Amino acid sequence: MNIRETVSFSKDACNIFFHILTRCNLHCRHCYINPQQHGSQTLSPAQIEKWLDAFSAKAPRSNIIFLGGEPTLHPDLAAVIRRAKKMGMRSVTVDSNGYLFHDILEKVGPEEVDFFSFSLDGPDPATNDQIRGKGVFDTCLSGIRKAVAKGFGTSLIYTVSKSNIRELERMPPLLADLGIERFFIQVIGIRGKSAGTDDTLQVSHDRWQAVVPEVADRVADTGITVTYPKVFLEAHEVFECAGLCADNYFIFPNGRVYRCPLCEDFPIHALNFEENLLRERPPLTEKNFFHLNIPEGCVMNKLIQPGNLSYLQDGSPAYKVACCMLKEEVRKER
Ligand code: SF4
Ligand code: SF4
Repeated sequence: MNIRETVSFSKDACNIFFHILTRCNLHCRHCYINPQQHGSQTLSPAQIEKWLDAFSAKAPRSNIIFLGGEPTLHPDLAAVIRRAKKMGMRSVTVDSNGYLFHDILEKVGPEEVDFFSFSLDGPDPATNDQIRGKGVFDTCLSGIRKAVAKGFGTSLIYTVSKSNIRELERMPPLLADLGIERFFIQVIGIRGKSAGTDDTLQVSHDRWQAVVPEVADRVADTGITVTYPKVFLEAHEVFECAGLCADNYFIFPNGRVYRCPLCEDFPIHALNFEENLLRERPPLTEKNFFHLNIPEGCVMNKLIQPGNLSYLQDGSPAYKVACCMLKEEVRKER
């Protein structure tokens, strides 16, 4: 028997998604990083420390996720992790493509990193490598196995698109074999590279509903906790915008700080680091959009990925699109 619940938004927890560089060794087809909007610099340890200090009062209720680009390309990642831990952050996660540069697993211990979270987009090289590049599947698996053997908490992120939704059904045995603790199913967003192509990678409402909850259940049956975005709301479910009801920060090396990931391709960030102080920006910013109440649910979805929407004959939406930060969690009853 599995427990399935929607993870409610709360301002009691703060989630800090800190892109410490945008450089990467890979060229994934759906990469959301946009150096024109996010910068291409690698932040120095001193600068990272000053930006972390902006969150010191919130540290005990903060989950920090270090990202890139590939964050393990940063030569000082270990020191940065230690700094976050010393500040008393509730959890520290490193998202990695599996290459684990600079021997990062030798430089930090499981007591310093709560999770290494690996990105893998298929159950085999044929599926994963056509999205993420030749040889990436094998390297990523080897990285996961090393992290598990060293006792690190590990999770895996699978970004679902038209290219790999069919293969999602073959993930449960691989996940069980790898010994990971958590499985995150993500949905492809029309951001970064995906926004620049005519190739519509997004999956339909019906396909998503037919595949994702069922696979999540099968994975949860093996004892792995699964989280996936809710994406579509039922008529009785209340729409909420994380920009108003949660405390999330998406920090980029050029100093931009967004509250909503869907806004990241546009210069409408709510906050900015100015001389290392976190400052609110004057309107018009993403914050002004969060208050717009529309029958389709998420306003940014309607603006930048309207292909997700569907209407009934009377012109009303067939369903509401949930905030992209709203997650379902499925776990085995203990
Ligand atoms: S590993 Fe991540 S940052 Fe690097 S190219 Fe792929 S999606 Fe982009
Ligand atoms: S995805 Fe939509 S609902 Fe969620 S924070 Fe952004 S604008 Fe708000």
